[in-house]
Amino acid sequence: MKGLIFSIKRYSVHDGPGIRVTFFMKGCPLSCWWCHNPEGISPSQETVEKVQKAGGKEFRTLENVGRYITPADVLAVLEKEKIFIAESGGGVTFSGGEPLTQPEFLIEALKRCKAGGYHTAVDTSGYSDTVTLGKIIPFTDLFLFDLKHLVSEQHLKYTGVSNELPVGNLHFIIESGKEVWLRIPVIPGINDDHGHLEMLKDFISGVGNGRLKKINLLPYHRIGTSKYKRFGLPYRMQNTASPTPARMKELKAYFEETGIKVKIGG
Ligand code: SF4
Repeated sequence: MKGLIFSIKRYSVHDGPGIRVTFFMKGCPLSCWWCHNPEGISPSQETVEKVQKAGGKEFRTLENVGRYITPADVLAVLEKEKIFIAESGGGVTFSGGEPLTQPEFLIEALKRCKAGGYHTAVDTSGYSDTVTLGKIIPFTDLFLFDLKHLVSEQHLKYTGVSNELPVGNLHFIIESGKEVWLRIPVIPGINDDHGHLEMLKDFISGVGNGRLKKINLLPYHRIGTSKYKRFGLPYRMQNTASPTPARMKELKAYFEETGIKVKIGG
C-alpha cells in the first residue's frame, strides 16, 4: 500500500508539540483562495517547469511533483529522527493537501507510528466522510483542525465546498475525546470582519468538554504565490495584504477571552 506525498518536512515545530516530521500528502477536495500549498491540491503526480537563474541566465527544467511512499518508509524516516522527536516530546504529523483523501495509507501509517511509540497528529480541513474519519480517530493523538468560515455560503465561495461537513466532523472529533488544536486562517476581507469574528468566538466558547486545547491564528501571507503560475492555477488574492502584527495581537487578545490558549502562527 502506498501514499502519494509532495514533501517531507523534518524538524518541524509548527505542526503539533515538540519536534516533528511532517508528511505533506497530495490531494485536496478544497481549493481555498489563499492556499499556500497549491501543489497539494491535485491527487496525481504532476510535472511542472522549474526556472532557475545562474550567471545571469535562466535554466528551465522539468520537475516531478509527488512520489509514492509506503507506511514502512514513514517509519524509516521517523527512526532517523527519533532522538530529536523523543527529547522534544514531538512526533509525526500528516498534512497536505488533505491527508484524509488517502484513508487506507493514512490509517496504516498512523497504526504503525502508534505501534512504534510515536505521537501522531493529523492536519485536516475536516472535509471527509465521517465513517472514514471514525477509522482514523483511534490512531490519532491530536487533530490540527483548520476552520475557515462559519457562514456556509462564504465557505463555498472561498474554498469550493460548503462547511456543514467540516463543522459536523469537528464536533464528531471533539465528542470522541481526542485533543484538537483549532487553526484559523486570518484572511483580510474574507473572514476577519467583526460579525464573523463574533460568530467564531461564540462557536469556540460553545464547543465544550475541554478538548479544544489551543487556537492557532494563521495570518494570511503571500508565500507560495509564485507556485500558482507553475501549476497553472488562478491566484485570486492579488489585492489582499497580510494582517499587520498589531492586528494579529488584537485578535489574539480577542480569542483569549474564550479561556483557550491562543498562539499567532502554527
Ligand atoms: S484545505 Fe488546505 S490544502 Fe486544501 S486548498 Fe485549502 S488551504 Fe490548500
